[in-house]
Amino acid sequence: MSDKIKVTISDEEYALEIKRCYLPVKITQPCPECGREVVRDLGEDYLSYPSVGVAEDLWMYCRGCSHEWELFIKLGLTVDVLEGV
Ligand SMILES: [Zn+2]
Repeated sequence: MSDKIKVTISDEEYALEIKRCYLPVKITQPCPECGREVVRDLGEDYLSYPSVGVAEDLWMYCRGCSHEWELFIKLGLTVDVLEGV
């Protein structure tokens, strides 16, 4: 890659302004109460007005025992400059 190309991504909060933000991301964790595997699929269960670079709270729900708990995630950005495409 050319060393003249520079990509700078701010590490400050960046609001996406997307009411229903579907992402190709799945978060899987065993339920803390019953151990059943719980999957939160952000491709189906969207984030509402998320921001990049800061903690976002995410609720997990176990269909096995109805336990609910909160996780925190942080969205990030990556940018790859493609050459010869
Ligand atoms: Zn459970």
